[in-house]
Amino acid sequence: MDALKKIIEADEKFNCCTYVPKEIEGSGKKLVSAKDNLCVKGMPAQAGSKILEGYVPPFDATVVERAKKAGYAVCAKTVMDEFGFGTFNVNTYKVPKNPHDPTRATGGSSGGSACLVAATGIPSIAESTGGSITAPSAFCGVVGVTPTYGLVSRYGLIDYANSLDKIGTMATTVTEAFSLLDTIKGTDKKDSTSTQPAQEKKLKNKIALPKEIWERTDERTRKQCWKAIDAMGVEAEEVSLKHVDSALYSYYIIAMAEASTNLAKYCGLRYGLQNEYGPEETYTEYFTKTRNAFGEEAKRRLLLGSFARTSGYRGKYYEKACKVRTLVIGELKNHLKEYDGFLTPSMPAIAPKFSEIAKLSPLQHYRMDVCTVPFNLAGLPHASVPFGKVDGMPVGVQIIGDHFQEKTVEKYAKIIEERK
Ligand code: GLN
Repeated sequence: MDALKKIIEADEKFNCCTYVPKEIEGSGKKLVSAKDNLCVKGMPAQAGSKILEGYVPPFDATVVERAKKAGYAVCAKTVMDEFGFGTFNVNTYKVPKNPHDPTRATGGSSGGSACLVAATGIPSIAESTGGSITAPSAFCGVVGVTPTYGLVSRYGLIDYANSLDKIGTMATTVTEAFSLLDTIKGTDKKDSTSTQPAQEKKLKNKIALPKEIWERTDERTRKQCWKAIDAMGVEAEEVSLKHVDSALYSYYIIAMAEASTNLAKYCGLRYGLQNEYGPEETYTEYFTKTRNAFGEEAKRRLLLGSFARTSGYRGKYYEKACKVRTLVIGELKNHLKEYDGFLTPSMPAIAPKFSEIAKLSPLQHYRMDVCTVPFNLAGLPHASVPFGKVDGMPVGVQIIGDHFQEKTVEKYAKIIEERK
């Protein structure tokens, strides 16, 4: 079947695209989709938000430019949680459904990307701040790769939290996901945080299992991941990560603080919806009208994030969270002197049903990120690889390496993939 037809069919069934072009530019191109927070010249980009309705970027993000140079054509923009705020892709105006069971969520925030990969086999360029590549990859049964912070240029990404955002890839195989990462990575003068990879480290053939993360996962998911470890035949030892809970708290403070500064510009002057400005209206009324386009979760994060960095509270919350982040990194790096990496279940359980998600409080929602947040906070590279099923739903195994040791992550990911 014609690729565009396949994509449109997947979108009709599972709600996974925000935009599909009428035709693919150029012939014989390899296809790739892009999460809707990535700018693709001439294609609408809303980052899952109503406040960006009507925005069509006049330029390509560096990753898109590089993919195009390597012979790819962008064949769809994919749905996501508003600005990346979420774990299940339910915080947006178009909610994707899991292709393995449409009563369940795809995971988020890159839910549309994972869903489209699962439904069509076409790879995707996605993004993770605190787990947005691992979560939907695990729930939809595809491979998701999140690189080291700084390996890939963020130029042309609609920011969530600048010190955490990482652009990565999703595909049906480990080889394809890493080869797409090779295409888009590398230093870029338009992003001063993009850097060159470090030297490859010698392998120790030993991985660490962080006890405090494993303990917070569902028993059947955990058992399935143990099967993966047994099949891998690799030396695995339990280690303690004392700062797992603190990692969650500090991640959410830092992410929300940065998000609230990023969202400040969407007030309807230069950025965001351009509403009519009535003659009787005050600026406050005008800005309020515009900013009311933010969804509930975005508003919550704006309020909490602004609070955490307000003078008087800054030292108590934001600065403290930054110190905790340093502790988390220190603890992880210490283990990485002895081990090649960490292995955990990608998510605490299989993809939840929409009816189950509706009952979660925001805090319960945030706690679902326990497997991904510590490593994202530290900027460590990781991959989620599908390994078997529980209740007919895919389970993901997450392998995490040291900074810029993507090759190590790839090697272990391939072993998991081969043994499944
Ligand atoms: N669930 C996390 C959050 O809401 C991570 C999402 C992401 O990586 N964009 O912040």
